[in-house]
Amino acid sequence: MKYLTLHNTLTKRLERIVPKGERFTIYFCGPTVYNYAHIGNFRTYLIEDVLVRLLKLAGYRPFVARNITDVDDKTIRDSQKSGMTLAEFTKKYSDIFREDCAKLNILPPDIEPRAAAHIGEQIAMIRTLIERNHAYESENSVYFRVGSFENYGCLSNVGGRELQTQAFDSAGKRNMADEYEREDASDFVLWKARKPEDGENFWESPWGEGRPGWHIECSAMAIKYLGETIDLHGGGVDLCFPHHENEIAQSEACTGKQFVRHWMHIAHLMVDGAKMAKSLGNMHTLRDIEEAGFTADTLRYCLVSGHYRQPLNFTMNGLHAADNALKKLAKYDENFSKFSKNSGPSLPTTWLFLGEAYDALLNDLNVPLCLGNLFKVLGSMDISEFSFDQKIALAEEFFALKYALGLRLERENAPIPGDIWALANVRWQAKMQKNYTLADELRIRIEKAGWLVNDAQTSFTIVKK
Ligand code: AMP
Ligand code: ZN
Repeated sequence: MKYLTLHNTLTKRLERIVPKGERFTIYFCGPTVYNYAHIGNFRTYLIEDVLVRLLKLAGYRPFVARNITDVDDKTIRDSQKSGMTLAEFTKKYSDIFREDCAKLNILPPDIEPRAAAHIGEQIAMIRTLIERNHAYESENSVYFRVGSFENYGCLSNVGGRELQTQAFDSAGKRNMADEYEREDASDFVLWKARKPEDGENFWESPWGEGRPGWHIECSAMAIKYLGETIDLHGGGVDLCFPHHENEIAQSEACTGKQFVRHWMHIAHLMVDGAKMAKSLGNMHTLRDIEEAGFTADTLRYCLVSGHYRQPLNFTMNGLHAADNALKKLAKYDENFSKFSKNSGPSLPTTWLFLGEAYDALLNDLNVPLCLGNLFKVLGSMDISEFSFDQKIALAEEFFALKYALGLRLERENAPIPGDIWALANVRWQAKMQKNYTLADELRIRIEKAGWLVNDAQTSFTIVKK
């Protein structure tokens, strides 16, 4: 078996990932469901998806938990503005998130726990931390005593004075919201006392009415579903400090065991040199990209094609380039499908042609090198001279890579998607009722999604644009 090598934020080194037999446990920090996820968020989830697919392909048996953050300042604030209950509001955005993931061909996690459904586990953990003197109660809130955990800063190297400044500055927006009476500026909140602006969103606890802090949810759910030591934990690079640092402190102070063996962080998607973020107003959603005439598959290719440890600058040109690359790959796909039908996670026994592209993925998930190599090799071979067995081997190697990258390549005879049929039907009805404005609008929407409607006298046909 060939092993995967991956950069570990904890040791700052490339490390060989060794499978543990039964299952390889993974926890990814999931979305805060108060709005549409933006494509920066999806860069992170897409890279995580490539990792999971590669692990499946390579025989590691990954088992993935990815949480939903459905209780925090933002979900509570915006649910109240919307007039919905917190549960209704967060369900709406969780459903949209799952739909977007499906469109982007992101495999669903094995478990998707919600924070609000695990308040009991979080309270239990906080109690243990208080008993062990790692946490204290103050004015009905509970704080983690950072000074009690010697290893604090092991992941992000943030410590001492720096930590105190950070607690108030850069991470301050998140922390300020958490601020109550603390022994030390760097202590962070585990349980937040109920405030008037929380409305009816509170739970009973040994410390009075309130709700858990953001960090404790991930520790509690990760330990519940994956055990006290998990193999790999990941998220965007902004989560390294304070979120993941705090997760380590809480979990290890509670269990006395190493929380995570391998930490993976994904660099940001940028726009004009700034991180794409809801708060900066420079975000695009999957819907924006579709309205601009690109498919989710094109966006997927665009977002996974940069190296995950380098920031990726988002541009429309990048989407056009992705579209072209996919069209080229679709031609190979069509051709190879004559020799093999494989599309699941099936690993070729030997790599005769595309081994270097596969090795690039195994070497710290180097997708750009993998793609570069794939195009180079495919472009330089003349398969009409291949034996039938060679053709089958090449096709299977191609399909294995296609699975790992999660590419859906449209063949000429690709079935027309259900939503395009639905739109075209609505358009036809509108035309029959002489509502030409709506009919034209829908024609444009369908075209932007890559399909053309041709009208005959009594019906219509749809063809690929
Ligand atoms: P949130 O919903 O804000 O908790 O973020 C969900 C995930 O998206 C986290 O793993 C973040 O680190 C990640 N993330 C946020 N902004 C970006 C960005 N611009 N590029 C890549 N990942 C991001
Ligand atoms: Zn988390």
